[in-house]
Amino acid sequence: MSGGWCWREVTGAVGSLYVHIPFCARKCGYCDFASWATSVTDGRMGDYVRALRWQLDELAGCGLLEDCRTGYVGGGTPSMLGATRLAGLLRAMRRAAPGMRELTCEGNPDSLTADVIAAAAAAGATRLSIGVQSLDDAELEALGRLHDARQAVGCVRAAVASGLDVSVDLMCAIPDQTNESWASTLAAACDLGVGHISVYPLQLEPGTPLGDRYKDDDPPWNDEGVQADRMEQASGVLCDAGLSRYEVASYALPGRRCLHNMAYWTGVPYVGVGHGAASMLDRGAYHKLRRVATQLPALPGWVQRVRLRMESPWEGIALAPPMNELDFSGELLCEEQALAEDLMLGMRLSRGVGERLVGAATLMFGDEFVRTVDGLERRGLVALTDGGMRPTQTGWLLGNEVFGALWSLAPSSVASL
Ligand code: SF4
Repeated sequence: MSGGWCWREVTGAVGSLYVHIPFCARKCGYCDFASWATSVTDGRMGDYVRALRWQLDELAGCGLLEDCRTGYVGGGTPSMLGATRLAGLLRAMRRAAPGMRELTCEGNPDSLTADVIAAAAAAGATRLSIGVQSLDDAELEALGRLHDARQAVGCVRAAVASGLDVSVDLMCAIPDQTNESWASTLAAACDLGVGHISVYPLQLEPGTPLGDRYKDDDPPWNDEGVQADRMEQASGVLCDAGLSRYEVASYALPGRRCLHNMAYWTGVPYVGVGHGAASMLDRGAYHKLRRVATQLPALPGWVQRVRLRMESPWEGIALAPPMNELDFSGELLCEEQALAEDLMLGMRLSRGVGERLVGAATLMFGDEFVRTVDGLERRGLVALTDGGMRPTQTGWLLGNEVFGALWSLAPSSVASL
């Protein structure tokens, strides 16, 4: 479709801001995220947060955040920063992006204390996302989590009582879990009065203690069939409790969807700060970022979208270098790849993708797109809607097949920055 009708405006700004806090009190047995175990007394956490605040000011100064509507502090364990440091960071995000409607902060039950919750609310957070994972003590211990079920329940109840929107994360297909224990965790989570629940199957990643322990075993509690059954079981319990499944892993009461995650799944540009933080920028937003990150190269004319990752180690970031001294890696996507990516992301949502995106794909990929969608429909993986398409239940369970078919519409090799 080069030179033709574009399905997405080049905005020159981002809709969402992500801030990464890479600290945890202890590494969980399954975790391969960008996080490091340290103590709450580690003074470098304060230096790191000060540096992030400086970078937020730089991003605001170059105009990148002027249309920013959602913010998210993720990790790692942001609640481990403690009340004062976390509040300072949240206020800095509010100052940098005054138009924000939603500001989520992640926390874990062992550090999301009443003081931290109150400080987050006073500093402008609207939403807390709590890493509960299970409400069964044996399962929590097997995962290497620091909290027990009683502590998790107390934390979530305090968060709900604060008046903030609250989401909890739960994990299935984990060691020691049975259908009964999973049903009991789901029912107990529904009783906590939260508006949002996310559910994920455990992924056994090489290089993690759990991944390495079971690498040759193919443990029966984690096979694909169990994962699919437990996700189905979750869907039944949570929908019966009045939540609706709006994304493959996300359930919400009416009006309580996570706007930040919706932005990711609908291809809204976003910028991330902190070690390992990802950004997804259109040409206009990238050029704005280059005003402060002057080390970033100019883009060739064919590039439609840039994916960046902040590679500087957290210790380096804590030394407070300006944006133009940070290391980034990146991928450059052409128009076809950006459109294929938007199709894939949209098919994570229960509503799928609409007429505008399907129309753009028909124009860009022609018969190949029509054949691909026909094939997916014949296999029962997608259903056609009014001009658009959405994933079926089977399509959600076999998501990688749907995503693979849509991605294969675009040239496969992605250029590096
Ligand atoms: S709390 Fe989260 S980020 Fe930290 S080690 Fe556990 S799973 Fe990883």
